Amino acid sequence: MRVINCCTRLHAPSSIRLSFVRRNHSQTHSYRCVGHGNCSLSTNQMEQRNLSANTVIDHPRALTDKITLIRDAGPSKFQVIADFDATLTRYRVNGLRGQTSHNLLQQGNAEYDAKRQALYDHYHPLEISPVIPIDEKTKLMEEWWSKTHDLLIEGGLTYDAIKKSVENSSIAFREGVVELFEFLEKKEIPVLIFSAGLADVIEEVLRQNLHRTFKNVKIVSNRMVFDDNGRLVSFKGKLIHVLNKNEHALDMAGPLHDQLGVDTGEEDEDEANAYVKQRTNVLLMGDHLGDLRMSDGLSYETRISVGFLNDNIEKSLESYRQAFDLVYLNDAPMWGAVELVSRLFSTEET
Ligand SMILES: [Mg+2]
Repeated sequence: MRVINCCTRLHAPSSIRLSFVRRNHSQTHSYRCVGHGNCSLSTNQMEQRNLSANTVIDHPRALTDKITLIRDAGPSKFQVIADFDATLTRYRVNGLRGQTSHNLLQQGNAEYDAKRQALYDHYHPLEISPVIPIDEKTKLMEEWWSKTHDLLIEGGLTYDAIKKSVENSSIAFREGVVELFEFLEKKEIPVLIFSAGLADVIEEVLRQNLHRTFKNVKIVSNRMVFDDNGRLVSFKGKLIHVLNKNEHALDMAGPLHDQLGVDTGEEDEDEANAYVKQRTNVLLMGDHLGDLRMSDGLSYETRISVGFLNDNIEKSLESYRQAFDLVYLNDAPMWGAVELVSRLFSTEET
């Protein structure tokens, strides 16, 4: 099922959008309208708007109001918080489920790769079990992550192995991610990528796939420490696992202030956290309902939430459209978010 919303101006053709859209996505669609308003677009017009065909906006008016509030407050009050896997990256690559930053890593040590797989086989069913109480599950997740990190150290993971793993992986970014980051970089808007995976792996994925670095893009995830020979010796900071990712993410983002191009002149962590937290307007992007909690540590004023619903669309659409301001279906590209931030802060628009 494809869904088109033709009741909002968000995806109306604009010079901004056209300048970003470089490739066509050849898909056939059937359409239905969501929300209120007329749905009188011709089929040809619809065909030209592949992005709209994969967009659901349940309350266009509320979204428009949020856009106005955020635009009026300006870019200095704004930040982007994004999940990584299946949000910035594609769910499917060449028709197959793409890899994630979690599962692409090969240590170059078959024994330890097998040991980590055995941990996955044991703990993953516990992670998704609906009957284990959250306290107990949190302990189990800490156990899993700790054991995995220990195996990476014991197994002698090197930075070279990370590079090779990323080279050989099938992970891929959604089209438009580079343009999104470029636009935000020009506006000096920070992008915080939250992940319970490995920061060093994600950074290598960014390096190899985007072919440049962005001074405004920072990873909040588990970070490795390597010795002079490029061998992993420890992890630094708090352990971030799947159940505490949202709880601690913003606090851990704070110390990144100096790398975000802003020097508060203080090493004080509270001061640094305050920098991130003073940007009280947020664009939040995720592919799970739980990702909505990534902004929990922030007393935000206005938040626009974007959900990528990649799979089980029939089953999950109702809950996604209720939870997110905008839902993109069918592994959609990032052009919608590109257009959104362009509308928020384009110098061409007043
Ligand atoms: Mg994800």
